[in-house]
Amino acid sequence: MKHETLLEKSRKHLWLPFTQMKDYDANPLIIESGEGVKLKDTEGKEYYDAFSSVWLNVHGHRKKELDEAIRQQLDRIAHSTLLGMTNIPATELAERLVKIAPPGLTRVFYSDSGAASVEIALKMAFQYWQNRGIKKKSKFVTMKNGYHGDTIGAISVGSIDIFHQVYQPLLFDSYKVSYPYVYRHPSGDATICRDACLAELEQLLMEHHEDIAAIILEPMMQGAGGMVLMPEGYLAGAARLCRKYDVLLIADEVATGFGRTGEMFACDHEQVTPDIMTAGKGLTGGYLPVAVTMTTERIYEAFYADYTELKTFFHGHSYTGNQLGCAVALANLELFEQMNLIEQVQEKAAYVKKLLSSFQELKHVGDIRQIGLMCGLELVADKETKQPFEWANRTGYQVSLKLRELGMLTRPMGDTIVFMPPLSSRDSELTEMVDILRQGILSVTEGA
Ligand SMILES: *Cc1c(COP(=O)(O)O)cnc(C)c1O
Repeated sequence: MKHETLLEKSRKHLWLPFTQMKDYDANPLIIESGEGVKLKDTEGKEYYDAFSSVWLNVHGHRKKELDEAIRQQLDRIAHSTLLGMTNIPATELAERLVKIAPPGLTRVFYSDSGAASVEIALKMAFQYWQNRGIKKKSKFVTMKNGYHGDTIGAISVGSIDIFHQVYQPLLFDSYKVSYPYVYRHPSGDATICRDACLAELEQLLMEHHEDIAAIILEPMMQGAGGMVLMPEGYLAGAARLCRKYDVLLIADEVATGFGRTGEMFACDHEQVTPDIMTAGKGLTGGYLPVAVTMTTERIYEAFYADYTELKTFFHGHSYTGNQLGCAVALANLELFEQMNLIEQVQEKAAYVKKLLSSFQELKHVGDIRQIGLMCGLELVADKETKQPFEWANRTGYQVSLKLRELGMLTRPMGDTIVFMPPLSSRDSELTEMVDILRQGILSVTEGA
């Protein structure tokens, strides 16, 4: 009864993000509660949260310490502004973030979504050169297939055709370079692919660095572009080129940050300190919308002046530095330390890697990409030729529906099946999730 009326209300009044509502109407779902790595819907059916509620969740749902941190903060205050003043948890959290971020990132600018943190990074990079009187450096370099959020600036530096094409007339131009997608590179070889992509980037920088403000990229793994793993050495190579040509490096760690890849930040895999780093998603353990844009003193100082010089960073949001969000983020990071979570993720990632290696035998699994607990399985029609499935068949989507039937939720990127379980998942839970994953893929691609 309750389920039926909710269903009716949802169909009548809601418009869901990134959702063809015709699909929702055919397959509606309303979550009622969650516990650990599972979600429960309004009909009482349980599902593994195998995509961490779209890449957010860290310690599972209803984590006692996180719930408690919010309750305690509520007894003091829920929210006051960060415009011209600060608050206690926002201040404490800034210090904590600087401690765990790549060395040299010493300033924290808050916002409330990954997309906003990217807008901030772009404006900051642009204005940095303006404030220094180097007005020509105004353009951005982005990676093909990149994703940085859905606001206009973020999609201007994004390049997933299927999402972004329709908005093209609204967007500013940027230079696009090839992302090292080894599986789809003609050579199929990681080193050749990496070096070719770095050479392409260097060529562009050589010709145009005088009008380039910054490069923006997703370090180590492109998320929404289909879980595409960077070959070793590309990130460090790109960072080197940025320094050589005096171009800022923006690392978008919204998906990869906070342990997801088996290091606190993906940049740590190659000891890279970007000039600007964005982060969000896992920051609050998947509880509340807080994001950050972190930068260096060098950038910060270019904005520090008498007001009348008009070098102020003119950007802010109503809920910037929200106390409830910052309090739960602090509790989240406290748990990372207490539990040695990064080490645990590395162990679990090795376990998942072993489980997923058996998928190589499957007829339609073309490529398995993984870093930490961030995995993508690319489904193809023909393994030999790497021929994709017919786009309109929506194979990835069909698999996700089957998985849902089998008691597991995830959201594919085209025909790449995403597996991003909460970092707290136990081995037994991971085993069960991977079993379901195999069943779902087999059922849709081989009719098994
Ligand atoms: C999810 C994501 C964003 C956007 O974050 P929102 O909080 O959804 O706005 C930006 N960049 C990357 C790399 C992401 O994965």
